[in-house]
Amino acid sequence: MDALPRFVRSVLEFQCLADRCEDTCCVGLRIPVSEERLAKLREGVAGTPDAERVAMLVVPQPDGPPAERAFIQMGSDGSCPFLDTQKFCSLHRRHGERVLPDGCATFPRIVSKVGEQVEVAGSLACPEMARRLLLKADALEQVPGPWEQVPRPEVARPFPGEPGDAYVLHAERIRAAALVLLHQQGFPLASRLGFLGQWAFQLDSIFRGEAPFAGDAEQAGQVLDALLPPFEAPDKLEAMHRDFATLEVPGGPCAGLLASMLKARRAVARGERFKPFADGVLVSLWGSEEAEGSPEEAWREVAARWDWLDAVHGARIQQYFLHYTVNQWLRAPFTEAPSLLAYVFRLAVRVAMLRLALAGHPAVAALRASASGLASEEQQALLDRAAVECFYLVARHVEQAPDILSLVWNMAGAGGAETLGKLILFSKF
Ligand code: SF4
Repeated sequence: MDALPRFVRSVLEFQCLADRCEDTCCVGLRIPVSEERLAKLREGVAGTPDAERVAMLVVPQPDGPPAERAFIQMGSDGSCPFLDTQKFCSLHRRHGERVLPDGCATFPRIVSKVGEQVEVAGSLACPEMARRLLLKADALEQVPGPWEQVPRPEVARPFPGEPGDAYVLHAERIRAAALVLLHQQGFPLASRLGFLGQWAFQLDSIFRGEAPFAGDAEQAGQVLDALLPPFEAPDKLEAMHRDFATLEVPGGPCAGLLASMLKARRAVARGERFKPFADGVLVSLWGSEEAEGSPEEAWREVAARWDWLDAVHGARIQQYFLHYTVNQWLRAPFTEAPSLLAYVFRLAVRVAMLRLALAGHPAVAALRASASGLASEEQQALLDRAAVECFYLVARHVEQAPDILSLVWNMAGAGGAETLGKLILFSKF
């Protein structure tokens, strides 16, 4: 019998808020329908009044890959046309779970496979999942759970890549080593991202070098035996941390770039929540929604707010970002990136975006101005609310957007020292 599936603890405990949710599952997201699911959907609604709506609103993409053979045509406000007035899915209600596309049936859960092990992680694009993943101390622990709670186990994605590829063969071991580095909480997150970058740089130079790695699984394992322990040695980490800490990097260019990403998404993002959020962040840091002022000044403001956040709420902030970074490794296989270093680079850019967004959140600015008059529980509750809003809106409207993803891969460049240098820039933002 197969081993029990492994769940992120918060995912096992998750309950959808349904009509009490501050958002809906689908606003701002793209909903592909696979070839198989399109057939099941058409068959499930055949002979009912929904057949015509499905024919009209589920738009075929005959040239798309089998997993994206059609898309749901979202309404002009970005919401799914099949939602009813109570924000429930009318297709689910009338025809059952079996007619839903895979993304709708699994959201906000992400089902994947590491080797033969089925795992279920959570998506921060759901505000309730974000609350649970970020705010509960043991949220990210992986625990066994029942098969009945795995939505659509048949769509569990294995680590992408060629079957004989060293990264695919040793995916679990490499991911476990990355998680060990992220948990080195004696060092600031910037340094931990730097450690990951250095480590990925070394592994890529062997497994993604100009000459393809010619060894078998055992030889790849020997490379890992040699390269992983030094990155776990405290004196080695301490030395790397000292090097990172002395590096002076300008924050202005990163602030300008992150603001332009926010503005690009604001121009096209659907739904009621993202635009006011992005405007609030930009006005709070630049003084205008267009962020036309000096990025250096905005960066100095970000840095001042972070000094205050670290001093007053350091442990809580540390938890948000530890959980966020660990969740990224559990929800998105690193082999989906062109290289391990590119994957870590994308993580560093995402963390930088969240640092900008949280520092710029008007509630954080207000909290800083009024903190001394509030009890610490009240302060934490306000900070938690702002953090959940930042993390879920950025996950939903920025991180997965195809234009942002391709921008990030372009910025990562060809890998090697160039990517590592840029990674350090974002890590220290
Ligand atoms: S976004 Fe999350 S909490 Fe809200 S309706 Fe969807 S699954 Fe439920």
